[in-house]
Amino acid sequence: MATAVKTKPKKSESTKSKKLTTQDYIHREDTYGAHNYHPLPVVLERGEGVFLWDVEGNRYYDFLSAYSAVNQGHCHPKIVNAMIEQAKKLALTSRAFYNNMLGEYEEYITKMFGYDKVLPMNTGAEGVETALKLCRKWGYTKKGIRENEGKIIVCKDNFHGRTITVVSMSSDPESYGQYGPYTPGFIMVPYNNIEVFKNVIQSDPNIIGFLVEPIQGEAGVVVPDDEYLKETYKLCKKHNVLFIADEVQTGIARTGKLLACDHVGIRPDIIILGKALSGGMYPISAVLADDEIMLTIKPGQHGSTFGGNPLAARIAIAALEVVKEEKLAENAEKMGKLFRDELAKIKSPMIETIRGKGLLNAVVIKPYNGKEAWDVCLKMKENGLLAKPTHQHIIRFAPPLIITKEQVLEAVKIIEKSIKEVEKEAAKKK
Ligand SMILES: *Cc1c(COP(=O)(O)O)cnc(C)c1O
Repeated sequence: MATAVKTKPKKSESTKSKKLTTQDYIHREDTYGAHNYHPLPVVLERGEGVFLWDVEGNRYYDFLSAYSAVNQGHCHPKIVNAMIEQAKKLALTSRAFYNNMLGEYEEYITKMFGYDKVLPMNTGAEGVETALKLCRKWGYTKKGIRENEGKIIVCKDNFHGRTITVVSMSSDPESYGQYGPYTPGFIMVPYNNIEVFKNVIQSDPNIIGFLVEPIQGEAGVVVPDDEYLKETYKLCKKHNVLFIADEVQTGIARTGKLLACDHVGIRPDIIILGKALSGGMYPISAVLADDEIMLTIKPGQHGSTFGGNPLAARIAIAALEVVKEEKLAENAEKMGKLFRDELAKIKSPMIETIRGKGLLNAVVIKPYNGKEAWDVCLKMKENGLLAKPTHQHIIRFAPPLIITKEQVLEAVKIIEKSIKEVEKEAAKKK
């Protein structure tokens, strides 16, 4: 026995020396990849449900959910199976031909959300671009605005993606700086301000649309007053302006309803979905609207090689079925409330505000003796929970919607422990 043990390590030692460390993985990404992100120093290799594992075998609660793309949990078996089965059969045909999955998906999603038609795309930003195109086409062909004169109202601190037109609507210099010249045709108004909106919409007859996030996710989970969405919606109806909801992050049960707009009982003219539409398996986005709007775009006037491919169609049906079957909206509502209630019990000078809806939540961190949100995120990582600051002082907490009560309670313990440890370290520095 003893000799066997002695001879074996030699071999495993040599394989072990080839095994990459966390630092090696990070160094390799740094060396060969563009530096357009600033990730937390953790290298992940496996996910299941609400958990992720790194290359060293450590387990973490995932409280980012890939920016709300994995609402259904990591590698949901039903979605994985759908993907594998469809991938073996047919993945991509392009829209030059019909395929046998697209119609089924189109029927499923339009009935589920209650719209006449869907236009399938891939990323969220493409969904937004599609909605803007639809709005402009509608403005020129239905509302009777002179071509090239239509204007779309957008909100300060919005996040709608990264394409040039989309960053042309941004108020964040990090997003738009040095990417000009910019796409014209947008008017920016402050978010959650009905008065300014009212003045703007009645002052310009060329306004054709209002693009809004029902909750501003990237801005730091900014939840507007219910009245804001209701009133702006009414004003849009009054002035024949399309109300376009970007629900890429807030949709698909994240906020405790299928759509965040459902909380206030409004039915947007155009809805943009993405992220969790695939359960994180594949980039899938969609734009929903009724015929009067959707049929303004004619064959050849818009499209995407991958949009509406049979693999995406099959995955999206499975991902939406999971949302229904597992009652994810109800669970998000309940677990979100529990999460905020438990967080509120933590006594810390570093917690300034807790806010959110369903399982889209944020904590505003008050810097404490030089310690910031980033330090809290590093500490939570050490303690087994992953989250990321958005802007400097806000930490978003958005776990997969399948999370259980026990898991919420354990996660809050980790958050509390981490904040306390950061506080202690900050105090020592004094
Ligand atoms: C993430 C996001 C987008 C962009 O989606 P991508 O898939 O990254 O292009 C658009 N709008 C909102 C509200 C988002 O959160």
